[in-house]
Amino acid sequence: MVFSIDKFECKEMFIFIANEIVKNEPLLTEIDSKIGDGDHGIGMKRGFIAVSKELADFEPKSCEDVFLKVGTTLIDTMGGASGVLFGTVFISGVSNRNENSCINLNDFAQIFENGLEALKKRGKAKVGDKTMVDALEPAVIGLKRIAQENKSLQEGLKFSATCSKNGVEYTKTITAKLGRAKYFQDKSIGYQDAGATSVYIIFQAMSNWIEKLRR
Ligand code: ADP
Ligand code: MG
Repeated sequence: MVFSIDKFECKEMFIFIANEIVKNEPLLTEIDSKIGDGDHGIGMKRGFIAVSKELADFEPKSCEDVFLKVGTTLIDTMGGASGVLFGTVFISGVSNRNENSCINLNDFAQIFENGLEALKKRGKAKVGDKTMVDALEPAVIGLKRIAQENKSLQEGLKFSATCSKNGVEYTKTITAKLGRAKYFQDKSIGYQDAGATSVYIIFQAMSNWIEKLRR
């Protein structure tokens, strides 16, 4: 069982996440084509290819330094509404924290809770608006719950991935209040939100990565 990861593992985790996002570009493109303008997959792919390149020979001072690098790279390269929003999650996630060479499940919960708060402030979205918030908020609640039980990172990340997956399923049942999908009104029912799907891919990737971690 793993209870914390160091700054180098944190970097490897994001390179793994980046690969998963790139692999899922066709799915994200298809989803954003149904109730958006079809650019979400391309934007995410461009952003996370840049993340992989930036991290390749990056020497992080701390785990927070890795999150900061990921966030600034996404903002610099992605474009679209979601570039700034995903960047905000990672940058604001760590902006009021001290630098740590290792992070545990409690840190993950705090980082993503900070990121969620900043995302909601910036984008003015709440649960039920059919955005990435619908996947991120349940993931944060899941992280906090498992962290309180002092369980492992494997258990926490697995549970939060399931919670965000449920959030994605929920977006199929609601109409969009924000972003381009709102112009589709009731026609958006039945389709999942693209940004929420990306959040799920990120949490599922973190869970898969920690399961495979060998020391
Ligand atoms: P764009 O809308 O500029 O084409 P993308 O297609 O990359 O940008 O991203 C669309 C996703 O961004 C949506 O699926 C939704 O999850 C998210 N999104 C859009 N507006 C907001 C907002 N105000 N708050 C939170 N998330 C949002
Ligand atoms: Mg789009």
